[in-house]
Formats: sequence, structure tokens, C-alpha cells
Amino acid sequence: MSLVLSVCGGRPISQVSFRVGGPVRSTMQDAGLQIRGLLEHGSRVFATSTIVTATAEGHSTATFAKAGRNAARLAHALRALGVAEGDRVATFMWNNQQHVEAYFAVPAMGAVIHPLNIRLFPQQVVHIANHAEDQVVIVDDSLLPAFLPMLSGLSSVRCVIVNGSADLSAVRAQGVEAYSYDMLLRGQPDSYPWPDVDERSAAAMCYTSGTTGDPKGVVYSHRSIYLHSIAATLPDAIALSRRDLALAVVPQFHVLAWSLPYAAFLTGASLAMPDRFLAPEPLAAFIAAVRPTKGLGVPTVWGNLLRFVEAHPEIDISSMKEIGSGGAATPESMTRAYAERHGITLMQGWGMTETSPLGTFARPLAGAGAEGASAHRAGQGRFCAGVEARLIDPHDEVLPWDDISVGELQVRGPWVTGSYYGEDAGTQADRFSDGWLRTGDVGRISPDGWLTLTDRMKDVIKSGGEWISSVELENHLAGHPAVVEACVIGVPDDRWGERPLACVVLAGDPVDASELKGFLGDRIARWQLPERWVFLPAIAMTTTGKYDKRALREQYAQEALKVVMA
Ligand code: AMP
Repeated sequence: MSLVLSVCGGRPISQVSFRVGGPVRSTMQDAGLQIRGLLEHGSRVFATSTIVTATAEGHSTATFAKAGRNAARLAHALRALGVAEGDRVATFMWNNQQHVEAYFAVPAMGAVIHPLNIRLFPQQVVHIANHAEDQVVIVDDSLLPAFLPMLSGLSSVRCVIVNGSADLSAVRAQGVEAYSYDMLLRGQPDSYPWPDVDERSAAAMCYTSGTTGDPKGVVYSHRSIYLHSIAATLPDAIALSRRDLALAVVPQFHVLAWSLPYAAFLTGASLAMPDRFLAPEPLAAFIAAVRPTKGLGVPTVWGNLLRFVEAHPEIDISSMKEIGSGGAATPESMTRAYAERHGITLMQGWGMTETSPLGTFARPLAGAGAEGASAHRAGQGRFCAGVEARLIDPHDEVLPWDDISVGELQVRGPWVTGSYYGEDAGTQADRFSDGWLRTGDVGRISPDGWLTLTDRMKDVIKSGGEWISSVELENHLAGHPAVVEACVIGVPDDRWGERPLACVVLAGDPVDASELKGFLGDRIARWQLPERWVFLPAIAMTTTGKYDKRALREQYAQEALKVVMA
């Protein structure tokens, strides 16, 4: 249909014809969301924000402007080495300034950054680098001794760039080109004609840690990283701003350090990078020296730091106001200890390699009061806008968000992976359901979208047809003053199918299994109480700082654990 207007405000106008009910197209420009945009914004608008890296002598500092210039130099150097669009450039590095430069240079020039997990067994690193077809690897000099024995197995790597001062001859002796990072950048132009890449193209890749199967590759796009960085920095998530100095304890190989480097250039928050100084003592000293306001890392790191600073009250970590803890469940007792004894608000986030990682963050909404604050201690938090979630029961029925119904968590969204790199549809079919990612995590969701995880599907203890949450048992046990660490696994039981086995590390005070059982008995139902107990000097961890439950199950099956019955 068309209408004809002939008069407008008494002035003659030409005839205007328009369709009623037709489609309206957006008038907005179709500008891509690219890493290049984050790099250019951060290094110009937040030119004076800094990357502070721990060193053997103390720390070194570079501004975002300098890191931006180095990123341009690195891109020129990589181009000269033949790196083309879509090529994979791996890193084998700690968290430091040069690693951040690579985080920007590689995707901004159209290639794909692939941070390798430096803590995996060598054969796993080789498998992953070959699977990703990495062509160039940037290696920290302190990691070169660990890297060199793997080099001959890396079938696609043709060039190694060493960050720091190291003898390159050992690399060259294996027939691989080798350069020093500094020498390579020297003399290169400090600006780069960044290409206008498709926002949906690959920017970065990470592999899952492989604790529950073979490592799987997840490929992030420019768009997914950009959107995820915005979501992560929102006030009810990590809440980053120019006023922050954010300590990235989470390794850059673990889900892109939860996108902290990108989020920093987005917001102007400065970065504190601990490099290889991750043990509690140097980490605490680094915090005392550079005074970060926020920190991100896995719970074990925060638990170790807490014990260290409580034994050394002269160390001042009072600059830290907030900690984001994720990757594994954080014991409530730790959250309370940080709050009550150090004035630090510790909040959990839930996520996965497959979800970039942020899915939820446990910041109580303003005005939530004491009830909200205690809820924030217990749960994984509220879903970010952009991450859709549902709970599914064993019969594939969708469960209500009533904070009672427990099922498998499934998610989808613009920064959730839709497949795994290089796997055919058949192999990955069981990880997806109608376009939703099956997380393998089990939990409940409140009517207003607050997630409380109770387990991994593989870790939930199925006892006599009922489910026992290993996470809940661990959480309560960690609250006992004599317990440093607690990890609960399901073990076969003739009568019940499975029963919980509690593995405990004690602080030194002698307590026995029946006392711990009595302590738990005041907090959870009798039928859930473990009868089997193991006291260990330490609990094995995975490379990303989670309890290695698979290793414990194997040890139990081989009767390598000394079990006490209570
Ligand atoms: P990754 O891909 O290595 O980061 O591991 C992801 C898995 O870590 C998730 O599927 C969860 O099982 C676990 N996880 C992450 N964050 C939390 C959290 N806050 N509480 C409990 N488990 C978590």
C-alpha cells in the first residue's frame, strides 16, 4: 500500500511515497567487533594504563601505548616470517607483558593465537599443537628447557621465538628457525595496517584441560571475544574500570585468562601479571608491592594465598578489594575468611573453556541485604545476559527454575561454542542437544537465574537411587578448622551402588574420621555421610588447579589409598 502526502506544516513539499507495513532495515553501520578495535582503543584512549609483570628482581612496567606499539612490531615480524591469515601462532608462556602483546598482535593481523597449557604432560602438548597445526611458537626463556624436548614432535612448527635471553642454538640444532623476541621486534615499524577481518573469523583457540577425556579444541571468534569482554566487565560481573589494577593469576592458557587482557584494553584497567612467581610467598610479595585492586584465579590459589598471609600477617594485601574465583567450586569458609578477616569480597564465577568462560557471576545485586550476601557465598551466581540456560532431567525434560529441581545444565549464546575444532559431527554429538551445549555440570537455578552447582555429571555420587553432591560435602568439610583441603569421590559399594569417599588434607591438628563425620552430621542428611575416609598429605591437582578426581578414583581402584572406616 502507498500513501501520498502533499502538505507539511503549510509548506508545499514534494510528494512522499512510503510503504505501510513493510520491513524496516536498521540504519546502523555494520562495523565488525574485532580484536583490532580493542587494541586500538586501549592503546590510545588508555595509553597510560599499564601491564606490570613480576620479575626476579621485582617487577617491570609497560604502558598500554608501548604494548600497542610492540604488538604492531610483532605483527610486522610475524608477517615477515610468513604468517598469513588464519595461521596458528602458539605461545608457551607465563602471564606477562609479551604474552599480552601476542594476544593482540596475532588476532589483530588476522592469524589465530593459541596459548598452550604449559603444565600438561609433554605428549599432550605435542598432540594439541599438532592437532591445531601451530606454525610458530613464542616461548618464555624460563620455559625453554621444558619446551625443547617436545620440539622434535611438533610436526607443523617451523619457527620458535624466544622471549628473554636464551641460547637459540638448541632450537636451531633441531632444524627449526629461532629468533629472540626483542631482536625480532627491533627496527620494525610501531604501527600496522590492521586488516578489516570478518568478526566471525577465528581469533584464538584453547583446548579443554582434558580431565574428563581427550582435550578438545575451542575456537573463539573476534566477535565472541569482544562480546564476552564487555559482559565480563559489567558492574554486576567483574566490574572492571580504569581505576583497577587487575591481577591475572589465572593462566593465559586457561580460557584466555578469562579474557582479562582483552577486558583490560576495553576498560583501561591496568594488568598485574605474576609471570612464573605463582607460589604463595612471591605472589603475596607481588600483591604487596604493586597493590592490585582485583584478582582472578582458581580457588586453590586463593586458598594457598589465604593460608600464607594468615601465617605472615606483616604482608599487606589490603589493596585487594575483590577476588573472582572460578574453575572449581569455592568453599564457603574461604569466602567468609577473606571477607571477615581481610575485608576482601570473594565471588565465584562459573564457566568453561567452551563458554569463553563467563556464564555466571556471583555478585549480589545492590540491596540484596544479608540474605543475598549469604546466597552469593553458596552459589555460582547469576547468568550473564547473553548466556541462555536450561536444566534437563535424565528423561530429557526441561526442569523449572525453582531452586529445587536438579538437572544437567545446558547453555547457548554468542560466546558459547557450537562445536569442537576438527571433530566430526558424530564424535561431538553427545556434547550438544538441539543447539545447546551440554555442560556436564549438574545443579539447580533459582527463579531469578541464580545457579547453584551440585556436581559434575561424572562426579555425582549415585547412592541407592539418590544423588549425593560431592561439592556440598567438600564445601562443608572445608569449613572444619582442621581441614586444609577436602575432595570427595564416589566409589563402588555392593549395597548402595556407590558411596562417598572423603579425601582430606589436615592442617596439622590431629582429628579423626569420626570427628569429621560428626561435624558433617550437623550439616547434612545422615544417609549422605561418608563411611570411607582417607587422610593425605596433599590432593593431586589437574593442570588448571582442580582436584584430580580421576587420579583419586584410579588410586582407590588400585587399592593405593589407605582407607579408614567411620
Ligand atoms: P575448564 O574448561 O577447564 O574451565 O572447566 C570447566 C568446568 O569447571 C565446568 O564445567 C565446571 O565443572 C567447573 N567449574 C567452573 N567454575 C566453577 C565454579 N564456580 N564452581 C564449580 N565448578 C566450576
